[in-house]
Amino acid sequence: MFWNYSIKQDVSWYFKKLMKIRSSTNEISILRAEKGGKFHAKLFYNLQVEAQEVKYSRAIWNKLIIPKHRFILWQACNVQLLTRDHLSKFLIIPSILCPVCENDIETHTHLFFDCVFARKTFVEIGKWLGVVDWPKEAEQIQQWCTRGPLDFKNRVINSVFAASLYLLWKNRNRCIFDLVCSSPLNLSIEIRKLSHYRILSLTCNTSKKQDKFGLGLLLLSFAGLLAVVPLFVLLGCCLF
Ligand SMILES: [Zn+2]
Repeated sequence: MFWNYSIKQDVSWYFKKLMKIRSSTNEISILRAEKGGKFHAKLFYNLQVEAQEVKYSRAIWNKLIIPKHRFILWQACNVQLLTRDHLSKFLIIPSILCPVCENDIETHTHLFFDCVFARKTFVEIGKWLGVVDWPKEAEQIQQWCTRGPLDFKNRVINSVFAASLYLLWKNRNRCIFDLVCSSPLNLSIEIRKLSHYRILSLTCNTSKKQDKFGLGLLLLSFAGLLAVVPLFVLLGCCLF
């Protein structure tokens, strides 16, 4: 019936789209996307994609990372953001220098790792996250994402890294379009806040866990240790 049905003029746009699928697939593909007696659009989509899944994809498309941060991390990982070195290949632009420091050509590696602003931001992050062996250049990000098991600690670090790249990119855009630049300290505070709330919203999902976490925070602040305890240790205390 589905395969032989002839579309009538007055059917909805959505139904027409659905019927159009017939020209690009077949019954076997539809049946392969069935699980537990139900059709799964996600499974069907994944079966249609012929590209091989890359190793680092699981680290990036992870729930602990805010969706818009995942997107920028993915772009940075594949060196696809429109930094000035890329832009100048097809557009005449007034300057190819980094809009944040104006000391070097703006490349992915410069903007996220070599720029004095980025380096200072990662130093600030290290003060509350603990020592992390960050990638040194954009070409290392893919490998860095697969550095170890995708456990809670590494997922938290990935989440902080994604937030960092996102906010560094956002700050770079503000430098160009609003002529305003943040400070590494402020950026680091924002990164911590965003990572914190994202992780808490997904992990402290019961009032018991929230109470345990709140108590942990209180005890650490009384002991004057709040600023020096790594984020993943802090978050881990509400999970285990
Ligand atoms: Zn710079």
